[in-house]
Amino acid sequence: MKCKSCKEKAVYSSPNYCKKHFSEYVEKKVKQTIKYFNLIEKNEKICVAVSGGKDSTSLLFILKKLGYEVEALAIDEGISGYRNITLDFIKKFCKENRIKLVVKSYEQDFGKRLDNVVKKGEPACNICGTFRRHMLNKYSQEYSKIATGHNLDDEAQAVLMNLFKAQTHMLGRQGPMTSKKEFVRKIKPLYFLKEKEIMAYAFINKLNVPFIECPFASESFRGSIRDWLNKMEKEQPGTKEKIVKHYLSITSILAEERKSEELDECPLCGYPSSAGLCKACRIKMSLK
Ligand code: SF4
Repeated sequence: MKCKSCKEKAVYSSPNYCKKHFSEYVEKKVKQTIKYFNLIEKNEKICVAVSGGKDSTSLLFILKKLGYEVEALAIDEGISGYRNITLDFIKKFCKENRIKLVVKSYEQDFGKRLDNVVKKGEPACNICGTFRRHMLNKYSQEYSKIATGHNLDDEAQAVLMNLFKAQTHMLGRQGPMTSKKEFVRKIKPLYFLKEKEIMAYAFINKLNVPFIECPFASESFRGSIRDWLNKMEKEQPGTKEKIVKHYLSITSILAEERKSEELDECPLCGYPSSAGLCKACRIKMSLK
């Protein structure tokens, strides 16, 4: 199998590319996404939310390579045997690539490691997602935007999760860039890249990312949707892309509905909230 751009041996199929042209293909897709959705404007300093996984590390690497001003923010949830490993990696990666990295933890902000919360029988991902969103917003205030490593697979999963849970109001919060001015805007430059493409990119570019999965991932609703969607993609190639494209075709309607959503301030932490105490403070109080 030959690369479609040169005579070299292809290392990736569909599209067939050699190492060099596959990397260029991925980086071009990121560039086009940024340009098309106007994700990053001139002179903006971007905070990249990193976990030490393949997606956020590749994103940090690509944005730096494309010449953007980037700094990294990592959140330590407190998951033994997992986050300590990925955090050690991202610290080393940022040092080697001369990127400023700030690390904050749930223990610091919420008084508990996720491991300890889960021991009390709470659902891990619901709490984890709420705390992470809260902290990413809190610690990225000095930046123009916060970039996350969400890819095409993540977005297709999120669309289905919100539909299956009948959370239509949450659908308006997705897309390549969030729109609420009360929060630091989140951007997703890897939006049109498949998970397997990013995995291959990280491997080809020798990013040496530890390929381990959070021990709670398989128990989550997202885990079930991910497995089902992967099965569908195998049977009907292009399923994930079609879900995201269809979603994008209705985002303007969803965005209109969101405009009328009024937000107050959480009386405890000042975080924008639609219902008195924000969700992170409500969970924090329930854990005492
Ligand atoms: Fe947190 Fe769940 Fe992700 Fe693990 S899989 S890091 S618990 S959101």
